[in-house]
Amino acid sequence: MNSSMTQAVRVAQFQDLSESFCEPIALTSAYVFESAADAATRFSGASYGNVYSRFTNPTVRAFERRLAALEGAEDAVAFSSGMAAIAAIAHARLRSGVNVVCSRDVFGTTLAAFRCYFAKFGVEVRAVDLTDLPQWYGAIDDRTSLAFLETPSNPLQQVADIRVVAGLVHAHGGLLAVDNTMLTPILQQPLLFGADLVVHSAGKYIDGQGRCVAGVVAGSHVLMEEMRAVTRTLGPTLSAMNAWLLLKGLETLELRVGAIARSTRKLANWLKNRRDVGAVYYSGFQFHHQRSLAEPQQCGAGGVLSFEVGDSRQSAWAFIDALRLISIATNIGDTRSMVTHPATTTHGRLTPEERSRAGIRESLVRLSVGLESVDDLQADIEQALCVLESSPTSFGQA
Ligand SMILES: *Cc1c(COP(=O)(O)O)cnc(C)c1O
Repeated sequence: MNSSMTQAVRVAQFQDLSESFCEPIALTSAYVFESAADAATRFSGASYGNVYSRFTNPTVRAFERRLAALEGAEDAVAFSSGMAAIAAIAHARLRSGVNVVCSRDVFGTTLAAFRCYFAKFGVEVRAVDLTDLPQWYGAIDDRTSLAFLETPSNPLQQVADIRVVAGLVHAHGGLLAVDNTMLTPILQQPLLFGADLVVHSAGKYIDGQGRCVAGVVAGSHVLMEEMRAVTRTLGPTLSAMNAWLLLKGLETLELRVGAIARSTRKLANWLKNRRDVGAVYYSGFQFHHQRSLAEPQQCGAGGVLSFEVGDSRQSAWAFIDALRLISIATNIGDTRSMVTHPATTTHGRLTPEERSRAGIRESLVRLSVGLESVDDLQADIEQALCVLESSPTSFGQA
């Protein structure tokens, strides 16, 4: 089963006694033992078996195994959210006296999590620019136990060199974790480029239908034992119900991501030629300044793109409010297209200086492309741009 299409529907199928063909949702907290001795050996880990759903659950396990197959990982461990998965990595790997080196361009809450909940225990948090290798060289040292990055970045679509950062952190005895939420294993497999841990906010493309919040980490057996120990002891466990949604989501992941990536490419190329749109950020452009990096690392550019409308918050908001089909929602990876204004939502907690340093302008809008017809999406964007152009207040369009 080397094909991802086959893996997505066949890995870790399991049946209960009723022989239902669809994987059952094991909605149970506890499991029954054959004898007191059986309970004792399962609890001690001397024999394998479910004990309690905070540690393991058959539906959750099926999701973990299927996701691991798609990432090319030995194993995976699921969590109740993407943030719980990232916190679990930190709990497992960080201790007083070490440092974590994290790119500034990660999902905002990731850096906040390191700073608010780990720095206070004596972990030094070092933020670096994602694409600036000298900064990574300068920040990683013998006390670095974890490097963390997300590529391509959101919303500006910068690409990191996974292989180089992995080599650097390995030379100092640390590990590299890559947040692969944006591209999914269909378009990028960070373990192939030397990453040790891959993390997903699984409620995005993996579920793909905006139905739940969930997370997952994939990697080696040894590292996954560490992750599972965190769920067992601290309890950020995924529910069987949500695991089942994700299991079903994985079955269509490649089809959905493929369709979304094609539509996104078409929209990006159309937008970049429009006079009434400013800069367009999309890692799949032929002229992207990091194309030589992106090409071997990514099999596509995914479903997120950003662009500037006019030169102010006012113009960006007017455009967003004029959209009729595309929804205003701060999420990615749903079947439905969504638009957001990063400066006042995802990046709203940054100071104006931090935002300007990150390149997040007031005129920037981010689009997460869904499964609607690309012609309908294009028509919606076009009519919103026209509303803007014909409005009495000029927004400073070129
Ligand atoms: C949403 C998101 C997260 C956080 O995941 P939750 O499931 O919301 O906790 C982390 N990384 C990226 C890239 C995300 O988009």
